[in-house]
Amino acid sequence: MSEVAGRVAAVRARIAAACSRAGREARSVRLLAVSKTQGPEAVAEAIAAGIDAIGENRVQEAQAKRPHVAAPARWHLIGPLQRNKARLALELFDVIETVDRIEIADRLEVLLAATPRVLPVLLEVNVGGEATKSGIALPDLARLADHVVTSCPHLALRGVMTVPPYDPDPERSRPQFAALREAAERLSADLGLPRLELSMGMSEDFEVAIEEGATEVRLGRIVFGDRRQPT
Ligand SMILES: *Cc1c(COP(=O)(O)O)cnc(C)c1O
Repeated sequence: MSEVAGRVAAVRARIAAACSRAGREARSVRLLAVSKTQGPEAVAEAIAAGIDAIGENRVQEAQAKRPHVAAPARWHLIGPLQRNKARLALELFDVIETVDRIEIADRLEVLLAATPRVLPVLLEVNVGGEATKSGIALPDLARLADHVVTSCPHLALRGVMTVPPYDPDPERSRPQFAALREAAERLSADLGLPRLELSMGMSEDFEVAIEEGATEVRLGRIVFGDRRQPT
């Protein structure tokens, strides 16, 4: 068994335990393996260990890596998307989790307009209200969601994601996870959408996120070990 496979097995057991504490089924949570700074070999090991979704936070890093990973997986963009990288992002990613403004939704829509492709997207929400963070503010979320649903037929609104302010104590992130879940429930009701996905929880706090309803956890270091260079 590769080192990554051992880690994947251990983390899956923790996901299952968190699900069981929350009265949920283990398969209700997707494990997105976040491979930033890791090489294509590590990604291939993760896929061999049963991972089917890979997260990258930089478009150019994915451009260097994805062609060297032959095994099939769905690649999710989880970092900021600039307008001038949108076309490239569409070539490299199957899901974009970081739509956080109308301008970027419109840009993706224009690029996809002449194609039959419908891109699954999540809206990134700045739940903590930190000035320096990307993500749409909670009070503006409904307007962005409504825009995507009514004006972007080539985007399929699948859910919301958040990165709470860093805190070494995962319990301090619990209110933010709960706030995102409540916002998603309101959105689904207001826009008549099916249940939205909740992409929340990282290596330090994924168990708390699962207890608060996460349907996807984005795990980097706990799957791959320490990052190979600072990001
Ligand atoms: C790096 C990153 C992760 C994974 O972080 P770990 O602490 O390594 O699990 C999750 N989400 C986003 C947006 C990231 O940039």
